[in-house]
Amino acid sequence: MKKRVIIVGGGISGLSTLHYLKTLAPDVDVQLFEATDRLGGVIGSDFVDGYMCEWGPNGILDRSGAVRELCEQLGIDNEIEFANENSKNRFILREGQLRVVPMSPGSLITSRLLTTFAKLRLLREPFTSSSKEEDESIQRFAERHFGKEVADYLIQPMVTGIHAGQAEQLSVKSCFPLLHELDGEFGSLIRGMITRKRRAKKQPLKDSKRKGSMRLLSLKPTGVYVLIDALAKRYADSIHTGKQVESLEKIADVNGVRKLFGLRFKDQTTTQADEVILALPAYCAARILRALSAPLSTNLSRIPYAPITVVCLGFPLTASPRPLKGFGFLIPSKENRAILGAIWSSSIFSGRAPDGKFQLRILLGGAGNPEVAQLTDAQTLETVADELHDLMGISEEPEMVRIYRWNKAIPQYMVGHSTILRDLENNLSEVQGLHLTGNAYHGVGVSECIINSESLAQKLAKQYNKSFIVAGIA
Ligand SMILES: Cc1cc2nc3c(=O)[nH]c(=O)nc-3n(C[C@H](O)[C@H](O)[C@H](O)COP(=O)(O)OP(=O)(O)OC[C@H]3O[C@@H](n4cnc5c(N)ncnc54)[C@H](O)[C@@H]3O)c2cc1C
Repeated sequence: MKKRVIIVGGGISGLSTLHYLKTLAPDVDVQLFEATDRLGGVIGSDFVDGYMCEWGPNGILDRSGAVRELCEQLGIDNEIEFANENSKNRFILREGQLRVVPMSPGSLITSRLLTTFAKLRLLREPFTSSSKEEDESIQRFAERHFGKEVADYLIQPMVTGIHAGQAEQLSVKSCFPLLHELDGEFGSLIRGMITRKRRAKKQPLKDSKRKGSMRLLSLKPTGVYVLIDALAKRYADSIHTGKQVESLEKIADVNGVRKLFGLRFKDQTTTQADEVILALPAYCAARILRALSAPLSTNLSRIPYAPITVVCLGFPLTASPRPLKGFGFLIPSKENRAILGAIWSSSIFSGRAPDGKFQLRILLGGAGNPEVAQLTDAQTLETVADELHDLMGISEEPEMVRIYRWNKAIPQYMVGHSTILRDLENNLSEVQGLHLTGNAYHGVGVSECIINSESLAQKLAKQYNKSFIVAGIA
C-alpha cells in the first residue's frame, strides 16, 4: 500500500513542500488540505482600477537561487522581474527628513544619515570581540559592533522592515544566523566577511547550478502570487481547499498493525495518513495539536506574532512634490511616527500603477506599535494622510485605497527562540511521523519558507525512498 502523507496549510510553505515531495518521492501519495477557499495564505494580489495591490509580500530576496530554480521547474522563470535600477536608493527618516541609506564605504563618508561621530565609531568594528552569551538581542549586538547611533538609525529600521519587530527583543542568533556565526568565529563582522570571501574563492560551493542574487525579485503580472498560482495549477489533483483541520490523533488501522494519524476537519469529516506535515503559523499548529501532544502545543504557543496593517494608495504623478526615485523609506522608533514606513511600489516593479500614476504601500503596527494596527479604516487613512503630508508633502486625496489587515502577521524570533526550537525538536521526536514547516521557525522571508520546505522534503524523501528499497528486497 502506498504511504500517505498529508500537508496541512496551503501557503507558500505547504505548497512548496508539496512540490518538492512530489518531485523527490514520486511513489508517495501526498495530499494538501487548506482551511480557506483560496491558496497562498498571506500571499495575494488584487487589481483595482489599473493598480496591482499586494496583500503581504511584495518582493523576494533570493540570495541562494532556490526561488529562481523553483520558478524554472514550474515554467514561470520568464515572468521573473528584478527590482528596477531606479529603486536602488533606500531612505531612512532622521529629524523629519528622508536621508539616503549609504550602500558603499564611499557613500558612508558623505552620508547625511549618520553623524561624524557615528562614522568614526565604525572604525572600531574590526576590534570587536565575540559575545560570551549564547544569544543576544539585535540591538545589543548592533551596539557592540557599530555603536548606538548605527543601531538606532540603520539596524533597528531594517529589523522593522523585515520582522515588524523590536530590535531590543529579537534574537540575533535566530533572525540573522550568519552574523551570529561570524561574531562567534571572528568577533568582528568585517574581518569575518573578508576571511569567508577569501575562503569561498579557494573552495567554490559545490551547488553552483543555483544563481542567487541580492536584487529583489517579483513575477509578472500578479507579483509573488504567480508562484502560488503555478503551484496550485500543477498540483490541483492533490489539493483540497475549504478543509480546516481541527484536530489530530494517533490511531491504528483496521488490522491494528499500522500506526496512523487521524485528522478531523471542521466540517466533521475525517481522513487518515501515515505522516503529517503542518505548514501552518505556530499558533494554528498549537490549536490542532492540543490533544495529540500538550507539550508540543504549549511550546508552539510560546512563539509570539506582531500585527501589521498594509495600506495601498494610488495617486496621479502630480500628487508627489518629490520624484519617487527609490525603494521607499523606513522610520526608526526614535522618530516617534505613527507609520513604520512606506514602499514606493510602482518605482520598484512594473504594473503596480497605470501610466501617469504611482502607488504607495504604507505599513503600520508591528510589535512596537500594535495598537496602531487596531485603528478603524477611517482612523488608519487619516493617520496615513497626516504622515504622508508631513514626510512626503502629499496633500491630495488618493484615488485608490486598499487596506489589508494581519492581526498575526509575522512570527517574532525573540531572544531565546533557539531554545523553543530545541524544545520543539524534543517534543517532535516523541510523535513519530509528525513534521513542522513554515515561517515560525527558521526564517520569515518567502525564500526561507521555500528553502526550509525543500530541506524537509529532501530529508523525508530520503527516508521514504530507502524504505521502498528495503521493502523491495524483503
Ligand atoms: C504584510 C506582510 C508583508 C510581507 N512582506 C514580505 C516580503 O516583502 N518578502 C518576503 O520574502 N516575505 C514577506 N512576508 C513574509 C512571508 O510572506 C511569509 O512569511 C510567508 O508567506 C508565510 O508563508 P506560510 O506558508 O509559512 O504561511 P501562511 O501564508 O500563513 O499560510 C498558512 C496557511 O495555512 C492555512 N491554515 C491555517 N490553519 C489551518 C488549518 N487548521 N487547517 C488547514 N489550513 C490551515 C491558512 O489559511 C494559510 O493559507 C510578509 C508577510 C506579511 C504578513
